[in-house]
Amino acid sequence: MADELLEVLAFVEAQVEKALELRLTWAELLRRVFALDVLTCPHCGGPRRLIALLTDPIVVRRILAHLGHPTEPPRPAFARSRELLDFA
Ligand SMILES: [Zn+2]
Repeated sequence: MADELLEVLAFVEAQVEKALELRLTWAELLRRVFALDVLTCPHCGGPRRLIALLTDPIVVRRILAHLGHPTEPPRPAFARSRELLDFA
């Protein structure tokens, strides 16, 4: 019984390690999906690097407002025209 449990644990551990090896960075995902290279400066072509992660909504809103950008997310839009959704 204990041997079987150890085998299962070893199998799970190997699967987790495989999954971690296949994991892509956000930069790589953005490059693949949107053809957006976030690690290259669009102005001079030089390398960019992550210097901070901002997660506090108050701080993020203040920075966006200071830069003159919208501070609220856009309202969700219908995927189709409302007229197409009226069946009456
Ligand atoms: Zn630059």
